[in-house]
Amino acid sequence: MTPRVFSGIQPSGDLHIGNYLGAVQNWVAIQRQYASVFCIVDYHAITVPYEPADLRTRTREMAISLLAAGIDPEVATLFVQSAVPEHTELAWIFNTITPLGELERQTQFKEKAQRQESVSAGLLNYPVLQAADILLYRAEVVPVGEDQVQHLELSREVARRWNARFAPPDAPFFQEPQPLLTPTRRIMGLDGQAKMSKSLGNTVGLLEPPDDVWAKLRPAVTDPKRIRRTDPGTPEVCNIYHLHRAFNPEQTVEHVAVQCRAAGWGCLDCKRVLFEGMERTLVPIRERAAEIRASPGRIEEVLRGGAAAARAIARETLRSVKHMMGLDAGLLS
Ligand code: SF4
Repeated sequence: MTPRVFSGIQPSGDLHIGNYLGAVQNWVAIQRQYASVFCIVDYHAITVPYEPADLRTRTREMAISLLAAGIDPEVATLFVQSAVPEHTELAWIFNTITPLGELERQTQFKEKAQRQESVSAGLLNYPVLQAADILLYRAEVVPVGEDQVQHLELSREVARRWNARFAPPDAPFFQEPQPLLTPTRRIMGLDGQAKMSKSLGNTVGLLEPPDDVWAKLRPAVTDPKRIRRTDPGTPEVCNIYHLHRAFNPEQTVEHVAVQCRAAGWGCLDCKRVLFEGMERTLVPIRERAAEIRASPGRIEEVLRGGAAAARAIARETLRSVKHMMGLDAGLLS
């Protein structure tokens, strides 16, 4: 049987190129290789303050961006987490077997909690819901960036703990999902300081008009030691160079490095070549997004179909889990 892959993405509205290069490009590449389940994780998004109308719009826009970026609903299941209530039901079950200390040690929780005045239990339990997201589909493979390996390890631990408590010793019910490390490394923001992130305002949106993309690229941070046009630069320390590697062919990347080291061109010339490379990727994505928007009911149709397909798998898993846990006395649906 084709192994199943699961991955989720926050409904942050338009995808930015960091999301695209760090995750979604890989989803598109592997969607035919695996039985692919891709989820817009709106239950995760409500662990921090938000506006309901805004969340609805962001969720829909994320679906448009994913389809425009190349997720094919004919081969992959694309759905919104809250349309499949089994996610939260399994998360509750996993909460009952997860030690508090393990959650408190999660790096992402500590970082996010520091940035907020009041911390919800949902933020603490976020990785438990994440374990439920993955294990609900009994996914064998999870594409992850290096910064998410710890969360996946918690999902693997939940699977081990649940199996040890409720499954026969010789027949574990949940497989431990394996990480599939995403080939493109962390994409830094245009400020060159931190990972590209919408909340930091250092992104380029996948669907932004070309003029806006150029307006952001022009002032983007480069090698800080290259002050004058005649100063030779060090491409390896420049974020623009790393973006060239993501958007331009090897030959162009080599040319960039040579020109930079010899001060053969200025940073603005270099950014123009990057912009051209980015446009080769972004133009067809923008065109697909426009087509989707012009087709009334298309998004609803895709998400409804995706939720039905996801739910069929989720129900099956949860029925078995509840039966093995003695949670079937009240008769299962
Ligand atoms: Fe960066 Fe290009 Fe300027 Fe070199 S020439 S510092 S790679 S922007």
